[in-house]
Amino acid sequence: MALRNITVRGSEILTKKCKPIKAITPRIRELAEDMVETMIAADGVGIAAPQVGVMKRFFVAMPHVDSEDEAIREKIYYMINPEITYREGTQESSEGCLSVPGYMGLVDRPEKIRIKATDLDGNEQEYEFEGFAATVFCHEYDHLDGILYSDIAKEMMTVEEYSERLEALKEEHAEEKAE
Ligand SMILES: [Zn+2]
Repeated sequence: MALRNITVRGSEILTKKCKPIKAITPRIRELAEDMVETMIAADGVGIAAPQVGVMKRFFVAMPHVDSEDEAIREKIYYMINPEITYREGTQESSEGCLSVPGYMGLVDRPEKIRIKATDLDGNEQEYEFEGFAATVFCHEYDHLDGILYSDIAKEMMTVEEYSERLEALKEEHAEEKAE
């Protein structure tokens, strides 16, 4: 396994539509391993192939980081040629991206999705996600069409501004409780 370089905003690679994967070759398996290693090393919850310079419709995600169950928390989804087949509701998500370092943004995403994809063993799978996990899959899926969350965000802010805002919200909340 090896760490790969993460492509950042400004590179044309991140603006292009990726091509389907035709066969799960040893090279694709190696790419999958490298993407997982790169994602974990960078403290991300998902990474798409174009983010490591490969123009293929493939991403990996680890969306259950807050689960109390270790097996669920460490579950990695391998999504080859994914397709979102159903969207329901709307939620406002706070997002960051390994390719847009230093920033956060607010994005409207579906509350619930169904997504199908081929896994690393070549089996077609269909999953249903809601809440945070749904936003992770939508975010990664967009990368395959050359869309960054910063292209569709309602508002962008620096990580510092974001943490200040969170702090202010916490204080407000604490004051409300005290009253
Ligand atoms: Zn991203």
